[in-house]
Amino acid sequence: MGEKIRIGFYALTSCYGCQLQFAMMDELLQLIPNVEVKCWYMLERDSSEVEPVDIAFIEGSVSTEEEVELVKKIRENAKTVVAVGACATQGGVQSWTDKPLEELWKTVYGDAKVKFQPKKAEPVENYIKVDYKIYGCPPEKRDFLYTLGTLLIGSWPEDIDYPVCLECRLNGNPCVLLEKGEPCLGPITRAGCDARCPAYGIACIGCRGAVGYDVAWFDSLARVFKEKGLTKEEILERMRMFNAHNPKLEEMVNRIFEGVKE
Ligand code: SF4
Ligand code: SF4
Ligand code: SF4
Repeated sequence: MGEKIRIGFYALTSCYGCQLQFAMMDELLQLIPNVEVKCWYMLERDSSEVEPVDIAFIEGSVSTEEEVELVKKIRENAKTVVAVGACATQGGVQSWTDKPLEELWKTVYGDAKVKFQPKKAEPVENYIKVDYKIYGCPPEKRDFLYTLGTLLIGSWPEDIDYPVCLECRLNGNPCVLLEKGEPCLGPITRAGCDARCPAYGIACIGCRGAVGYDVAWFDSLARVFKEKGLTKEEILERMRMFNAHNPKLEEMVNRIFEGVKE
């Protein structure tokens, strides 16, 4: 084995759930001979956010002006950047509401003084080039292993271009949308979780984000939800939870309700 691969794991605004998920993996111990952790506060007390790394994993949404500068600095110091989890790839649930930032701020912090300058939560790729993405809230452990493993052998991770429904049907789960009328987002959501929620009879809320390559048919699914009695606002609220920054969502849902009096 040649030189060790230098990695960093950085947190922006997040719940730290993604890095906790990965920090608890036993498999990390097997990486020790091959990897040098330059920054990962959850694992390494002497972490530094400004050391050069080969692979930078970034968790969390860009939600303060200070984080805008931090992601730029991480990008400057990293050969490869991987956005990790729904916050970093889609802006996270903190992007869900379209209420003004000032109103949200007042609700949470009141008149308290804070050390940072807030802004609307956004995905990391709105500020820097992101080379790869790991999806989910939190992602599956195998997502991290697969991504890190392929990068360590000089290859690259492939994107998943099919929806949760495919894994759900392959597993033979009863369909909560068709059989129970629940607003499952499986048809428009990127697979990779092995249909974790429908396997327990729970409707998918779309944490892995809309499937890419322009095949997330928000309009078709909105039509099904509408037939099941959901209003436009209810549909948008559900679909926006993890897709607030998707440029096509609102327009496609609106199309279904054109000319319809609610
Ligand atoms: S994606 Fe989910 S688990 Fe990961 S940091 Fe954001 S809220 Fe937490
Ligand atoms: S339960 Fe949801 S994910 Fe499974 S097949 Fe039905 S709509 Fe698709
Ligand atoms: S079923 Fe949907 S909400 Fe549940 S883990 Fe998979 S993508 Fe996320």
